[in-house]
Amino acid sequence: MAAQVYLDNAATTPLDPRVAEAMRPWLGETFGNASSLHAMGRQARQAVDESRRQVAALLNVDPGEIVFTASGTEADNLALVGTVQASPGRPCHVVTSQIEHPAVLETCRYLERHGTEVTYLPCGEDGIVSPLALRNAMRPVTRLVSIMAANNVTGVVQPIAELARIARENGALFHTDAVQAAGKLPFDLRAQPFDLLSISAHKLHGPQGVGALYVRSGLKLEPLVHGGGQEQGLRSATEFVAGLVGLGRAAEIAGSEMSAEAVHLIALRDRLIETIATHIPGAYLIGHRHRRLPGHLCLGFAGQEGEAIKLLLALDELGFAVSSGSACSAPHASEPSYVMLAMGFDALKARGSLRVTLSRFNTAAEVDRFLEVLPPLVRSLRPVSTRAQAPHLSLNLTRTFKS
Ligand code: PLP
Repeated sequence: MAAQVYLDNAATTPLDPRVAEAMRPWLGETFGNASSLHAMGRQARQAVDESRRQVAALLNVDPGEIVFTASGTEADNLALVGTVQASPGRPCHVVTSQIEHPAVLETCRYLERHGTEVTYLPCGEDGIVSPLALRNAMRPVTRLVSIMAANNVTGVVQPIAELARIARENGALFHTDAVQAAGKLPFDLRAQPFDLLSISAHKLHGPQGVGALYVRSGLKLEPLVHGGGQEQGLRSATEFVAGLVGLGRAAEIAGSEMSAEAVHLIALRDRLIETIATHIPGAYLIGHRHRRLPGHLCLGFAGQEGEAIKLLLALDELGFAVSSGSACSAPHASEPSYVMLAMGFDALKARGSLRVTLSRFNTAAEVDRFLEVLPPLVRSLRPVSTRAQAPHLSLNLTRTFKS
């Protein structure tokens, strides 16, 4: 069997060999505790500090504003719970959206169980959260607005600069979950009114189990993890030096190669869109055509939404790793996607999408192999009774696809 073609980079990305190279010494002979006073400890501390500088450079912030965590999920939890718990006893209202990752949604539900009021903003059929809806949701007691930078299911990029401005004008803090966007879209936090921003190393060719939270200087958060006081007391625990070195190097590479990489990814993505629109009658794109991450596609096939898992498994058999757009974890793969339900899709359609996400390591040859396999596969899974209707469907949907 030919090597697997990996087209599931929104789930996780392969470790860049340059990142692995930077991490290698810290997984072997170099192993000091960054809090130790001896030479090996000081060497580890220097490595952690260097990583902090590299992550800060990616976001254009001060290194002292970066708090390392064990994941994007933990960064989101620290942002939300840490903000709310930093001012106990005051009435508290948080605004988020219905399409956030569970790392934010479930944390909001936790906060609701402990007395915080939460408003979940809807999104349009293009997957975008409206600034006007945010403006209308703001109240005097709104302490925090948390809206993701780019959605993990659709790849749709949110108008976060405008959303952040509205939060600030109304006296609230603004957090963005940039786990999908960091390293793919430029961030200049000195120029943008963001207070908190989460990232995760494994979405930008770094290691799994490492994340970071940008915390604007002067902002007070209540820590979630208590102990030896590492990370300015905000995240106690002995630092995972190898992981942090990996995050730092991954951030450095992403920062220096982002523009060239975007050109490569957009070319591959648009080749996928054009070919699929031409050769698969009834195919449609989920989410805004242009406001999307460079390498991210979420697709539906009209009349075949019930076959999405079959399609995914058939592609897997043929050596292509893609994902169902409906869920971020396998146990929920056959449930309708709450993101697509929020966009106004019915339950059947919301169960039946295919997510194809590219990275710097994907080649035009891989995309071409995928494009050879996908159209006949979709045709073969189409129920015989509906095959005749498909060209008719494509006339409408191809137009939607390209709009
Ligand atoms: N936020 C978004 C938008 C994500 O896509 C993910 C992971 O898929 C997370 C948060 C969680 O990050 P991590 O896997 O590092 O916990």
